[in-house]
Amino acid sequence: MRFQVLAFALLLSLSPSFISAHFFPNISSLPSSIRNSTWDSFYDFAGCKQGDTVNGLQKLKQYFQRFGYMATADNYTDYFDSSLESAIKTYQRNFNLNISGELDGKTIQQIVRPRCGNADIINGSSTMNSGKPPAGFHTVAHFSFFPGMPRWPANRRDLTYAFFPQNQLTQEAKNAFSRAFARWAEVIPMTFTETDSIGTADIRIGFFSGDHGDGEPFDGVLGTLAHAFSPPAGHFHLDDDEDWLIDGDLTLLPSISAVDLESVAVHEIGHLLGLGHSSVEDAIMFPSISAGTRKVQLADDDIQGVQTLYGSNPDFNGTTSSSPPVRESDSSGAHYPFASWGVGALLAVGYFFSLML
Ligand SMILES: [Zn+2]
Ligand SMILES: [Zn+2]
Repeated sequence: MRFQVLAFALLLSLSPSFISAHFFPNISSLPSSIRNSTWDSFYDFAGCKQGDTVNGLQKLKQYFQRFGYMATADNYTDYFDSSLESAIKTYQRNFNLNISGELDGKTIQQIVRPRCGNADIINGSSTMNSGKPPAGFHTVAHFSFFPGMPRWPANRRDLTYAFFPQNQLTQEAKNAFSRAFARWAEVIPMTFTETDSIGTADIRIGFFSGDHGDGEPFDGVLGTLAHAFSPPAGHFHLDDDEDWLIDGDLTLLPSISAVDLESVAVHEIGHLLGLGHSSVEDAIMFPSISAGTRKVQLADDDIQGVQTLYGSNPDFNGTTSSSPPVRESDSSGAHYPFASWGVGALLAVGYFFSLML
């Protein structure tokens, strides 16, 4: 029996856990306790403030360190010190929250939302609200760039992308990425074309679990969802442990932890092009996205940011379409071994066995 469990675990680790709402109706009956989000324990810190000592608070400090709000320390303590308060204030400013320095309910709710793994503050320079002119200085733009404003050079406007072959993505999943690239191509003079050659592609897309060799380990269900490197690195990594939803109807959501693949892809492509995070909640480049939501339309903030780097697509008339034309390299509908239904069934059995353990 244990061997079977391990066999299923192995299969799961080899394939992205895509969910199709249409083909996988039973998962909602599974206990949500087995799908707890990485950061759910942070709810225990609600109401904490400077001077408090709370068991496990060091994990929150690690969270703030990871996203650039606190300096790296060898051993964080559970004491709520002034550096944590300062980190919380900066975070609250970046996320348009009341700047209290305390872990009030709204701040905790924002902290536990699933988010992009890229930091909000890089090398000490904040990229969101806190790096903008002080209050009273009128500004509407909140887009940002990586330090040094890296971008793809002028002679590289037609980029290629490829998927790590070991992920064996379905055509359905590949199409979600294709649509995500098309949203950016609509507003800037760039094209993105799929190629089979992972070795030579400008952008390389892969799903990984946990530590995958770049110093930014993934963390299981929810928490960080994906990350991407600044130009011209082209690394685009997604957390294989998420319940990725492709082409599903979110109103028929089968799992409280399902994450819309296309929404996350649009965001990460923004990073691949050189954008940092934005404080505008409607912007694609806002760092967080709740499970079960879909956000794929570029906001004015995103468009202004990316056009600052590359200029405007001459065909762009100022309004994005709800579904931009997609350059399909293969729309034949060919399916790969890990079609969503099959993976869904495996997941269900995997959960069943993990309950038995
Ligand atoms: Zn991001
Ligand atoms: Zn990575």
